[in-house]
Amino acid sequence: MVDFDNSIFKKLCVVSAPSGAGKTSLIKKILKDKNISVCISDTSRKPRVGEANGIDYNFISSDEFQDKIKNEKYLEHAMVHGNFYGTLIDSVVKLLEDDIIVILEIDFQGAEIIKKKFPLSRSIFILPPSFEILEKRLRERGTDEEEIIIERLENAKIELSKAKNYDYIIVNDDFAEAEKKLHSFCMDKDLLFDDKIRKEPLIHFDF
Ligand code: 5GP
Repeated sequence: MVDFDNSIFKKLCVVSAPSGAGKTSLIKKILKDKNISVCISDTSRKPRVGEANGIDYNFISSDEFQDKIKNEKYLEHAMVHGNFYGTLIDSVVKLLEDDIIVILEIDFQGAEIIKKKFPLSRSIFILPPSFEILEKRLRERGTDEEEIIIERLENAKIELSKAKNYDYIIVNDDFAEAEKKLHSFCMDKDLLFDDKIRKEPLIHFDF
């Protein structure tokens, strides 16, 4: 792999959440800040209605994905809900070198890989207010078949159990408040917020 100046990875921010926690909407909001960008992942999943290639994901075939793994194109990659997802090295490094805070909207497996490879990177977990609300949001979204919703709820239990391993935790009960916190945490390159502020929801929520 290419040699990096490791300090650029302070600007790398992993954001994870179970499906339905509101992660994508929150990230969209904070992208109004031109100092922040999100890295578009590759996936072998088929696009959902309304999703566009190159905007939501780079939608590629499983064969293409395997080739890119072989050619070491990914910073991390993982199988999530039966599909491959991966973060392209080139896209991330280019943004970081341009002094942009880069968000990786990835699952807990990817988050673990990134933390191991780049200890200076930071990680944020977004919690739904409760499991019941998560289920309600997933159903109201209306984008997935029932069996997919059930699979995602099962996966959500595993994902929620990983929240404590992240540097920051946010509960998305009040959208505006969660947006403010996500923005502040993304900008907090030197982990200046103390541990209590960063992990406060763990004290009140028992997931
Ligand atoms: P969805 O298919 O609902 O867009 O995403 C499913 C899951 O895959 C989410 O948890 C999302 O964060 C995760 N994901 C998206 N892109 C990547 C990636 O590049 N790497 C990893 N490890 N997970 C990803």
